Amino acid sequence: MTTQPLPSSSDVVIVGGGLAGLTAARVLEQHNINAVLLEASDGVGGRVRSDNVDGFTLDRGFQVLLTAYPEIHRHLNIPALDLKIFEPGAVVWREGKGTVVGDPFRRPKTLFSTSFAPIGTIGDKARIALMSAKLKSTDPRELLKGQDIPTASALRGMGFSSKIIDRFFRSLVGGIQLDPTLTSSRRMFDVIFRTLAAGDSAVPALGMGQITQQLAASLRTTEVHLNSPVASIASGVVTLTNGHNISAKNIIVATEGPVASRFLNLPEVASRAAGCVYFAAPHAPIDGKYIVLDGHGQGPVFNVAVMSNISSHYAPSGQHLIAAALPGLAEGDLEAAARRQLRSWWGADVDTWRHLRTYRIPHGQPGQDPPFNPKKSVSLGNGLFVCGDHRDTGSIQGAMFSGRRCAEAVAEQVRLSA
Ligand SMILES: Cc1cc2nc3c(=O)[nH]c(=O)nc-3n(C[C@H](O)[C@H](O)[C@H](O)COP(=O)(O)OP(=O)(O)OC[C@H]3O[C@@H](n4cnc5c(N)ncnc54)[C@H](O)[C@@H]3O)c2cc1C
Repeated sequence: MTTQPLPSSSDVVIVGGGLAGLTAARVLEQHNINAVLLEASDGVGGRVRSDNVDGFTLDRGFQVLLTAYPEIHRHLNIPALDLKIFEPGAVVWREGKGTVVGDPFRRPKTLFSTSFAPIGTIGDKARIALMSAKLKSTDPRELLKGQDIPTASALRGMGFSSKIIDRFFRSLVGGIQLDPTLTSSRRMFDVIFRTLAAGDSAVPALGMGQITQQLAASLRTTEVHLNSPVASIASGVVTLTNGHNISAKNIIVATEGPVASRFLNLPEVASRAAGCVYFAAPHAPIDGKYIVLDGHGQGPVFNVAVMSNISSHYAPSGQHLIAAALPGLAEGDLEAAARRQLRSWWGADVDTWRHLRTYRIPHGQPGQDPPFNPKKSVSLGNGLFVCGDHRDTGSIQGAMFSGRRCAEAVAEQVRLSA
């Protein structure tokens, strides 16, 4: 982060300091290219930031890092993040009680509860095991080429019952893709399920924001300007909202998809919204490091996590932090809706919970309806480049991968024009 005045020219300007923009800056540095990065807000990180509220660590929307993402191992010092791992599987909450649905291969002790969990037939559970094994042994690149239809249709086509789709997949996958309707691409479903099965779900001990803080701290020569919103972009020049112009041979647009589309006249990018309500509680409603899924599949809270059970740093000593995730929903009285639903699970205790903050994220992830084709071009010609999760998959992996691809394309351009 710099306090220097804005320059009037730079070889490369990056617009947007989320995962994609930061990764692009890091890879450019590896090619000995210095960039100026302009971030509209008061901090880097974009959708992966954490806030400190009354001693609690609140991620800006409940999200997790999947350790099987290949790109994170290229750019992050994973041990330094001190990852805290969720138990594989989940607790499915239904009709007043929670049942552990585990991965019997990784946690054999959960075989019994999983077999009898009221989420579907024995056939459904056998199909999940078969599907995981098949996906794990398939290259993700191949999965992204498979036939594309809505996830719910794909699950029905594989023989899954409506019961398991509503009681398990809707909350699990709907929560990750911010799409409880399960209308998103089955290609993405396959990739996500494979990634879940191949590794762990985790958060850094001190919050998800540590991921982007670490990336930003690793930058040596990039000039990062905060509170520097860009108003328009033309070939060779970036204009900030304060009227300042920066001329640049190469411009990387690393904003959210809808903003990038406006700047670059690209096809519209649809949005999946997300809400997240945080509560402070004197007691944790469940033990263990599980994600809790809505086993009725009706929401609006589809996932709950007692973050302080996962990492004690998320809450002050003696208190608990509860994250209630409302995928697909960013409007209305989210706190009241979350309280109402969680009171029906955990009773009057929920009335004693203190509301800490509600996050409303109109653009949580880009829409990924079928036919979904990731790995879109990052090089648009005339010195204009674009990266972000909307160019790949709507995920931490997708954002970082697109940032690297984009920086490599810029480095090639710089080499050719040298
Ligand atoms: C609630 C929620 C849950 C999620 N869960 C998961 C999960 O569990 N696992 C997973 O892998 N992914 C998850 N994701 C998705 C993941 O967080 C995103 O895909 C990723 O962070 C996108 O990074 P990005 O760099 O492409 O975009 P962003 O992080 O949006 O970065 C864009 C940056 O551009 C800046 N910007 C915008 N306009 C301008 C302008 N005019 N001038 C300058 N700067 C500008 C923005 O301020 C922002 O910093 C989740 C996302 C949300 C919101």
